[in-house]
This record gives sequence, C-alpha cells and structure tokens, in this order.
Amino acid sequence: MDNKEKAKTVRCDECKKKVGLMAMKCRCEKTLCTSHITAELHSCTFDYRTEGVKTLSTVMVTVTGNRGLEKF
Ligand SMILES: [Zn+2]
Ligand SMILES: [Zn+2]
Repeated sequence: MDNKEKAKTVRCDECKKKVGLMAMKCRCEKTLCTSHITAELHSCTFDYRTEGVKTLSTVMVTVTGNRGLEKF
C-alpha cells in the first residue's frame, strides 16, 4: 500500500502536469506549474483590483499627513 506517495504528488491545476518541487501557489489558492502561475494563464479568481485599491488609499493618507505638517 503506497497511498501516502499518491497523496504527495502535486499537480498543476491548469494542465494537470506533475509539478513536484516546482509547484507554486497562486493567491487564488490554486497550485500551478511555472508556465501557468501568471493570473492570465489560469482561471484566476483572486481579486487583484481590490488589492490595488488598498494600496492607493494608503498612499493618499500619507500625502494628506505631510500637508498638515507643512501648514503648521
Ligand atoms: Zn500548468
Ligand atoms: Zn490565481
């Protein structure tokens, strides 16, 4: 019985190719090979837009803070 070995085999969620040590996990929780890790090359469900908005608001807060100090 070598069920343990079978469970260990990591495959790319997109092409079902064995990836093993080259396995990479995307932010959408999918395991992918080097050729499919790019969001456009697999059906990526991670919302990159939301992440971008978060970064933008952080920058805006910093700018407002600097302005306040200048006035004083
Ligand atoms: Zn692949
Ligand atoms: Zn993805």
